[in-house]
Amino acid sequence: MKTVMLQNGEKVPALGLGTWKMGVGDGDEAGQLRALETGIDLGMTLIDTAEMYGEGRSEQLVAKAIRGRRDALFIVSKVLPSNASRRGTIAACEASLKRLASDVIDLYLLHWRGGHPLAETFAGFEDLRAAGKIRHYGVSNFDADDLNEMNALKPRPICVANQVLYNPSQRGIEYDLLARCRAEKMAVMAYSPIGGGPLAGHKALRKIAARHGVTNAAVAIAFTLRLPGIIAIPKSAHETRVKENAAAMDVELSQEDMAEIDAAFPPPRRKTPLAMG
Ligand code: NAP
Repeated sequence: MKTVMLQNGEKVPALGLGTWKMGVGDGDEAGQLRALETGIDLGMTLIDTAEMYGEGRSEQLVAKAIRGRRDALFIVSKVLPSNASRRGTIAACEASLKRLASDVIDLYLLHWRGGHPLAETFAGFEDLRAAGKIRHYGVSNFDADDLNEMNALKPRPICVANQVLYNPSQRGIEYDLLARCRAEKMAVMAYSPIGGGPLAGHKALRKIAARHGVTNAAVAIAFTLRLPGIIAIPKSAHETRVKENAAAMDVELSQEDMAEIDAAFPPPRRKTPLAMG
């Protein structure tokens, strides 16, 4: 498994598992659990969840999937902006820990910018880290201006990751944000690497997928993983699709592949506001 090194030298898998829309509805819980367990068995040992997902039910599903193997996993969760005051961040994390049936969250993110001052949220993150309830913290959906505001705080937050939308059809971060995060030793977590689903059926990726003997989804994921410092977190509630997505780890896109992707989805030529999913 390709890995990404965090600021402190710790290595995490470059390919993990998303969990948005899991644990909710009338869906088949056993099938969803099998999907997560299969991913873990295949080395996708980083799991991304959030208090928002299914109002906590995604975290509860993750708790079931990780039972008995917690120590081998890297769990990411997120605080909702509306909860992200200093005290609210601490309370939200404690509730997430309970749902995850875990003593610690490996990486805790601010889900997106909200009304609470950033200083409050990061003070909460620092309190949680000092108490051993989270190991690292970071942000999500932060564009350059948000990072500037964060970096101006005293003390400067030790932000290890920025989770943002990135896939072949959403390449805005290639203009500046990717290089910026790399320069500041922040891992970039690419969310919606299959474009939330549609890229799995996109004709522009079909020839490339055929050349590599994988699915379109694996090509889209491999696209996000081609650059250093990027962690991709595709989500599937189906075991067979998780296996298809895991195949992305072995796909090295050629110049010909990239030329075809560039023709269908041109790289950005100017700064655009950060896209959100
Ligand atoms: P995604 O991973 O790009 O796509 C997921 C969709 O694609 C699901 O509908 C899934 O359906 C389908 N799919 C997965 N593998 C497939 C395959 N091999 N073939 C065909 N279809 C496939 O989108 P996402 O869920 O939006 O993003 C991934 C994760 O990123 C989320 O789950 C979440 O953890 C995180 N995220 C974070 C933010 C944020 O603001 N920080 C925003 C969005 C997402 P099935 O499940 O039915 O297979």
